[in-house]
Amino acid sequence: MFHYKDRRLFCEQVDLEEIAQKIGTPCYVYSEQSIMDAWQAYEDALSGLPHLICYAVKANSNLAVLARLARAGSGFDIVSGGELFRVLKAGGDPARVVFSGMGKTAAEIEFALKAGIRNFNCESEFEPALIDEIAGSLGVTAQFSLRVNPDVDAVTHPYISTGLRDHKFGVDIAAATEIYRKTLSLRNVRASGVSCHIGSQIIDYSPILEAAGKVLSLVETLQSEGLGIDHIDLGGGLGISYQENEDAPLIRDFITDLRDRIGRAGLTVMIEPGRSIVGPAGVLLTRVLYRKKSPAKEFVVVDAAMNDLIRPALYKAHHEIKPLRRTEGGSVIADVVGPVCETGDFLARDREMPDVRPGSWLAIASAGAYGFVQASNYNSRPRGAEVLVEGDKWRVIRSRETFEDLIRGESL
Ligand SMILES: *Cc1c(COP(=O)(O)O)cnc(C)c1O
Repeated sequence: MFHYKDRRLFCEQVDLEEIAQKIGTPCYVYSEQSIMDAWQAYEDALSGLPHLICYAVKANSNLAVLARLARAGSGFDIVSGGELFRVLKAGGDPARVVFSGMGKTAAEIEFALKAGIRNFNCESEFEPALIDEIAGSLGVTAQFSLRVNPDVDAVTHPYISTGLRDHKFGVDIAAATEIYRKTLSLRNVRASGVSCHIGSQIIDYSPILEAAGKVLSLVETLQSEGLGIDHIDLGGGLGISYQENEDAPLIRDFITDLRDRIGRAGLTVMIEPGRSIVGPAGVLLTRVLYRKKSPAKEFVVVDAAMNDLIRPALYKAHHEIKPLRRTEGGSVIADVVGPVCETGDFLARDREMPDVRPGSWLAIASAGAYGFVQASNYNSRPRGAEVLVEGDKWRVIRSRETFEDLIRGESL
């Protein structure tokens, strides 16, 4: 959806420079078409199997994005009461919401039960007991899955790998059967599924298949013991192509490899993609402020920083950087850095890029997921605007923060 036309970078039919000029920078721009195409690819890949796509809200939780997905019939994977609040505000169907996360509070559980969500993905043996107690007091029955830890290495950055035995997530798959058995005595909860999520930005999906195989064996055991397990939740995690030599796994191939194994068990498949739906659909626009040279390095100083996109600093992530206007000029090898007072404040290091001048604009690619949602006000920097493009139209879906926003809630 991002392409050059007459040397200018477009998102769908909109010249990104028009947005940069009118809205200013830093500014996140999302392509509605790209989001919906990615979502539809999951939908197409899963057709023929009973299924529910639960978009992982944490990847990009803007109301307009959620509303668009809700309109298409998407479900949602939430990890907090705040995310449930957003889904409901966006018109999402609570009956299509699953609640993941390992530290759900009693207040969050109560909120979710009152809203009538579909399923809790529990991460310890204590959670079903707490949900049972709260459901009992509300006079409702809740459905839950245990998130099992299949002890599979997702082969991704250690900070976003979650499926190994020494990670904090889920319950050890070997202990799961016993925990499920114990929950049979709880009267206000019903074990309805098994879930797993082994990590994020997974390029080779064979570990997800391996994990799914282990989960399916567990489901068979549970079914043979008379537990009414009716769904398997495969989590999210499919990677995207952040750089040209990185091949994003095809959703279609991934599901095809699982189809037979799931079909035989008669299960509804749930899946919780986040990054692969919104990641490639967004860019972060930034303006070049200065060019600077040290004896050892060239720097391109821009007006976006680690507080706007923390992935390079946090995960050593690579994001392609593209000029909004292609020129004939030469190229440089430079660090692209922001104004924040941290050496870790960089968007790219030793990057070969166009020899850009102050005042020109750049697009940081693949910033639609884990971009704005991880933004902070560090250095008292107001967070940037968010824009949604649809065809030849665009609109602001979150306005740029003001100085007044920075001090909201504070007192002298
Ligand atoms: C983060 C997360 C996801 C989404 O992961 P992506 O890599 O963005 O697809 C799905 N499920 C759970 C439980 C998560 O924590």
